[in-house]
Amino acid sequence: MVSSVIVHNTKETESMINSLLTGAKEKFFKTAYFIIMEYGRRVLEKPADDVNFIQMPSMIEGKDFIQCVRCEQYSKKCEVYLPSGAYFCPHCIELGRVTSNGLLYFIPEKQRPLLSETCRWQGTLTSAQSEISEKIVRVINHHSKLLVYAVTGAGKTEMLFRGIEAALSQGKRVGITSPRIDVCVELYPRICAVFPDIKVLLLHGESGDYFDSTLVICTTHQLLRFYQAFDVLIVDEVDAFPFVNEKVLHAGVKNALKDKAALIYLTATPTNDLIRDVQKKRLEMVTLPARFHKSKLVVPKFYWVNKWYQLIENGKIPKRLLKVMTEFFADGFPFLIFCPVIEWMKTLTKLLKKVFLEKSFTAVSALDKERVEKVQKMRDGHYDFLLTTNILERGVTFPKISVIVLGANHRIFTKAALIQISGRVGRSRKRVDGKLYFLHDGKSQAMLAARDEIKRMNCLARRRGLIR
Ligand SMILES: [Zn+2]
Repeated sequence: MVSSVIVHNTKETESMINSLLTGAKEKFFKTAYFIIMEYGRRVLEKPADDVNFIQMPSMIEGKDFIQCVRCEQYSKKCEVYLPSGAYFCPHCIELGRVTSNGLLYFIPEKQRPLLSETCRWQGTLTSAQSEISEKIVRVINHHSKLLVYAVTGAGKTEMLFRGIEAALSQGKRVGITSPRIDVCVELYPRICAVFPDIKVLLLHGESGDYFDSTLVICTTHQLLRFYQAFDVLIVDEVDAFPFVNEKVLHAGVKNALKDKAALIYLTATPTNDLIRDVQKKRLEMVTLPARFHKSKLVVPKFYWVNKWYQLIENGKIPKRLLKVMTEFFADGFPFLIFCPVIEWMKTLTKLLKKVFLEKSFTAVSALDKERVEKVQKMRDGHYDFLLTTNILERGVTFPKISVIVLGANHRIFTKAALIQISGRVGRSRKRVDGKLYFLHDGKSQAMLAARDEIKRMNCLARRRGLIR
């Protein structure tokens, strides 16, 4: 958790820094304690008197309801009553408790330095990527809004670099945010490598302490502490859980932006709400239907497996699954098996251990404490295959894999989930195709819609001459 320690940017600090420069370094470190200035943030503890801050109420009281100013959510007064007589907000409590007898202290953003030539990326963009990259620069310059609808494996991150560089050169503060920790964690080393002179801040529930930075990567949850902070905010995987239906997180994005700011959404599976905004001309959209390696998206094949879950519950492995796995082993590439329910996945793992004695594999879910290590091991090629729930549907890249979705017609596998899962296949230049099988006992609407969407994107890419 980030503490609300404060650093002064005042004359006192200036004299401290001067004392550093004049050789009194040791004395300074012995006597001073580091206080971090939280520019563009609202904190719960009152900053020192010489800090420039604005005091604001933390809650707005109505007759029966009370609204939290930080996350904008309403609570029934009778449900959030404290013994002290005050009310608290349960919606954003993970970020420190907002109470009606406390205040919020807003420390306004400062003028950021103009940082030129910060981007060290040496790669080249395809012409389609270049067009979107230039569009992003324009959106940043004009403080407008954009939805980048790019298929899985399109190279979205690379398209951002020029825009981020342009923003930093204008002294703008940039935030990259995602509902998924995995996405933030995977983005962080890539952004650090491309902008080596910037001390990038990574913020999520389990990350370290806050420090002031011009370039921030954080979960959408962490945005709730920011206020009028960012000139540019990029929301990656905007349709992912929990952002998609969480009003709190939408308030976080809105409040973290300055009045004049650019907002860029990235996704391969935009929600109906976003598409509606585009149709009503409230949001501009650019589409990239092709992958960076210019090969088409892999289309799923459907295979019927009668009552597959009953077979597993009775201690039997569906024959079709064994057949497909044998085929995958013969191909010699690693693969993922997506399961809709953790319990079924655990049972299946035990059954497979009895059959594939010589194969190296394991199972991973959101409840797994070794989740990060197992995912890394899969990435490093330690496993022949990995069983997983939909936690690995997005934000992760394993080179050269094939994929089986067992029980693809289960309600947990929505159209977006199936498109994202399909997008794990064929991402690497070294294996641009791969096998993708949906095993089911009755085609769902989501399965059909996902397959149609993948085919539609391939068609669009072919028409625009973006794939070979
Ligand atoms: Zn709140």
